[in-house]
Amino acid sequence: MKYLILLVMVLGGIWWIRQQRPQHTETKKSRQPSGPQTMVTCAQCGVHLPESDAVRGLQGVYCSEAHRQQAQG
Ligand SMILES: [Zn+2]
Repeated sequence: MKYLILLVMVLGGIWWIRQQRPQHTETKKSRQPSGPQTMVTCAQCGVHLPESDAVRGLQGVYCSEAHRQQAQG
């Protein structure tokens, strides 16, 4: 019974480590231009950029915090 608890703890530790790590490789993959990335247009200057890099504003999305402030005053 002691070993069973130990085994569960070890498996739990491995699971926890796996939860922490994959994000590193996934961000690398999603940064590739060929990946299924949703593109959005900056409401201020019209530049196209990945949705994950966009800044969300009240009237749409923007390429940067500066353009969000310009558009919204
Ligand atoms: Zn812009």
